Amino acid sequence: MKETRRLSVARRLDRCTVLGPGTRAVIWVQGCPLRCQGCVAAETLPFEGGDEHSVDQLADWLCGLPDVEGVTLSGGEPFAQAGPLASLIDAVRVRRPDFGAMAYSGFRYEALLRGDPDRRALLRRLDLLVDGPYVASARHGLRWRGSSNQRVIALTGRHDHLETGPDTSAGVELSVAADGSLSWAGVPPTPGFRESFEKRLAARGFVLRAEVRRKA
Ligand code: SF4
Repeated sequence: MKETRRLSVARRLDRCTVLGPGTRAVIWVQGCPLRCQGCVAAETLPFEGGDEHSVDQLADWLCGLPDVEGVTLSGGEPFAQAGPLASLIDAVRVRRPDFGAMAYSGFRYEALLRGDPDRRALLRRLDLLVDGPYVASARHGLRWRGSSNQRVIALTGRHDHLETGPDTSAGVELSVAADGSLSWAGVPPTPGFRESFEKRLAARGFVLRAEVRRKA
């Protein structure tokens, strides 16, 4: 695995209960090579922009979060920055060996298994993978997935009990940051959800922060 110690991050969240099991931190990486029609995270697609963080900075942040059972890696495409993300999980587990890791990917699991060493290294560190591109015409309203072609794949036994949970949308969560800015997280339960949700919020005077901060 290449030793890369920097990550381009679109956004982070300390606590989230709708993107994986339990309460989790979330990192949305910046940049995705795919272009799924109807992608709900269009602002994370360019590889330019986002905030640069070192693996050590992000490890310190994750290790300092109380009461989170792990991190969910989303994007953007986490496997486009697989090397530093694998290093990040290693750095966190030095201090918190039981820290969980889940990732989304627009690539299928089988393709990732055939991928470069960095991609396989990240796979080996995950407990859960949600794989495959978003397909707007497929079925929606499913737990943690945007469309029914995507699979929740258990890569360790950590979440064996998941099979028993209902396969329905986990919903979305609104968060208010320390500076008062408002953002939301979650897998939209229907196509077009984001646009109509943000319009309804705006009509009530709530403005969501720009998700991607461009570098000066
Ligand atoms: S893989 Fe994910 S982030 Fe990339 S275009 Fe598809 S839905 Fe969007």
